[in-house]
Amino acid sequence: MSNLLNLLEKIYQTNDLTYKEITYLLENITNEDREVLYNYALKTKQAYYGDKVYLRGLIEFSNICRQDCLYCGIRASNAKVERYRLTPEEIIGCCDQGYELGYRTFVLQSGEDLWYTEEILVALIQEIKKRYPEVAITLSIGERRVETYQSLFASGADRFLMRHETASKELYETLHPTMRFDDRRACLSALKEIGYQVGAGFMVGLPGQTPADLAEDLRYLMELRPDMIGIGPFIPHSETPLGTEKGGTIKDTLVMVALARLLIPESLIPATTALGTLHPQGRELALKAGANVVMPIITPTSVRKQYALYENKICGDDHPEDCRYCIERRIQAAGF
Ligand code: SAM
Repeated sequence: MSNLLNLLEKIYQTNDLTYKEITYLLENITNEDREVLYNYALKTKQAYYGDKVYLRGLIEFSNICRQDCLYCGIRASNAKVERYRLTPEEIIGCCDQGYELGYRTFVLQSGEDLWYTEEILVALIQEIKKRYPEVAITLSIGERRVETYQSLFASGADRFLMRHETASKELYETLHPTMRFDDRRACLSALKEIGYQVGAGFMVGLPGQTPADLAEDLRYLMELRPDMIGIGPFIPHSETPLGTEKGGTIKDTLVMVALARLLIPESLIPATTALGTLHPQGRELALKAGANVVMPIITPTSVRKQYALYENKICGDDHPEDCRYCIERRIQAAGF
């Protein structure tokens, strides 16, 4: 058996690989090995979760952001973005519609928009929980004070998504001129400590990112053991400083999804919208490589296109009910 097949067998049997082994695997994997890897990841997912796919309704409630991440289409410096901010009443309207469509988890995501003060967010979370006590509320609003995270949790928020973006400190600080590597990690630790179910994750194909950096991403996740892991390809946006870069590939991203499933087998892993944007069957391929969550967009159609983290994002003209049934058909056609 080749060295690589041995490693794949080891990861499947033990859910463990060293940093060096992961790096070696990423540097040497062939197309044939990839099929073996996806198959092991699929079997592992099935052992933990069966054929279930969890749906989370995604509400992109503001594209206003104080940060300036070099890769992101809604970065503060992009003057070409038409900015919007949904009112708390409009966000609750999205939840009403989402609830009707059967969603029981809402992901409230935005740029880092401090217009939504702690007070506004607390009232919003309390109102959603009052209407729908059984739903889970997931926040994805970026960096705030620990005290704010605490009061949002106390008011009923259950989960928090904050990708670590890259585990390379050097790359992180190049890509995030307004943010600090240690702050991001401190936020993730604090969120976990407070009691949130936490989602971390990273992008694949960032300029300058090496196989060793990606191995570091997985080792960091093995340490943090988040409940959720979001992995997506970096997709260049023309109105950003990285607009002419190459971006991540579907193949490289699927490899990272499969490795995450094998190394942190109990985690919830979304088949990301970015994967669906890169390839018409990207999300289905991710489900076959170990992902088990899909986050259909329930943002109002009137503002959807303005939440352009990258260009050509799928579902821009769709209505929440279109996405709901489209995704159900896709999941079933993929065999889940
Ligand atoms: N502001 C919040 C935060 O920082 O966690 C949440 C919103 S942020 C726009 C959501 C995620 O979008 C980021 O964590 C990043 O990984 C992803 N993202 C941003 N620009 C992207 C791009 N050009 N390609 C792929 N993913 C991108």
